[in-house]
Amino acid sequence: MKKATINAKGMRRVRGGHPWVFRSDVLSVDAESGDAVCVFDEKGRNAGTAFYSAASQITLRFFDRGHVEVSPAYITGRLKRAAALRERLYAGAEAVRLCFGESDGLPALIIDRYGPVVAIQTLAPGPERLKDVVADWCMTLGGVAAVVERNEPKVRALEGLPSLSGVIRGTVPEGLTISEGGVRLPVEVLKGQKTGAFLDQRDNRDIAAAHGRGRILDAFCYHGWFSLRAAAGADRVVALDTSEDAVKVVASTAAALGLNNVEALCANAFDYLRECDLRGDAFDTVILDPPAFAKHKGALEAATRGYKEINLRAMKALAPGGHLFTFSCSYHVDEALFYATVMDAAADAGRRTFVVRRLAQSLDHPVLLGFPESAYLKGLLLRVE
Ligand code: SAH
Repeated sequence: MKKATINAKGMRRVRGGHPWVFRSDVLSVDAESGDAVCVFDEKGRNAGTAFYSAASQITLRFFDRGHVEVSPAYITGRLKRAAALRERLYAGAEAVRLCFGESDGLPALIIDRYGPVVAIQTLAPGPERLKDVVADWCMTLGGVAAVVERNEPKVRALEGLPSLSGVIRGTVPEGLTISEGGVRLPVEVLKGQKTGAFLDQRDNRDIAAAHGRGRILDAFCYHGWFSLRAAAGADRVVALDTSEDAVKVVASTAAALGLNNVEALCANAFDYLRECDLRGDAFDTVILDPPAFAKHKGALEAATRGYKEINLRAMKALAPGGHLFTFSCSYHVDEALFYATVMDAAADAGRRTFVVRRLAQSLDHPVLLGFPESAYLKGLLLRVE
């Protein structure tokens, strides 16, 4: 039997529901990197079963409270349970996150489905070894024609794994599109950001689509999914991104959809918002969905300044009674800090501001209690008087 022992601190963490035990709390390991190990505490009591990663600070990733044998049937059992949950949450959806790692009892394994194509990420040696089992299972799903891996995230290097991407099963159809909220959107499943799209914002795009009126500014638009979903109900939409490639995709998709009220601009949101202020431009809705400003704890102060600045400028760019959708996907900026930062911006803007709704990641990215890392996307829908 492959096994490991952890100290009392590690045991407390696991009992509290956290699925990770760090190197400093691991006392001994008798296994190879990527093995599933039965874990004990110093007194020989069961701590559960975990994947062992020899290179990583996150040395053990737990996925079962008992000591279990990790067979292909065990893994497909977990996969089926994860898929069944999505079917209940988003029946018939073409694009859905089928597996969200630890939250689905399959640590460091991400599976996103875009209609006929499934994109997977195996972000630690445990799931890396299960790639074939996972890919074969994906091919058994009705209507799936290809499985690709998008294993470029930098965290793979910390796990001693190379950067990899490409088709691992079947053939990816040309011109892949998916429908979200009745809008046909193209997906670049082999080179887009993440696995091709930001599925974590789908629920919030539903809200924005139902809500958007008048003039909308989508300041960090990527492929413009917020803009394109909200355009039907709006007079004019300005979609900005610093990526020229992303802006081209927005423009061509808007044209394909016959949406001639969408203007796609290659611009820096910080500069554009400042210019709005100088010109006295006003929008009825502003959407701020920036990339993670705090990639690590050390960047927290600079990140907070960044969030405050864009929120302050966005509030100034809103017409009285306008709405702001504002997000942070930095795990290190927790909900309390994010809300405090937005409140600070509202105070500086001198605008009375109301919380219309609290926003979070879509339900196919389940939050595991005891694992705060799984609750990374937070947001607010505000009305600014
Ligand atoms: N809202 C999108 C996802 C946005 S991801 C969706 O629902 O699909 C964040 C985007 O911000 C990326 O495309 C990135 O290129 C862009 N970006 C980063 N810094 C920026 C800046 N200073 N100004 C404008 N866009 C920026």
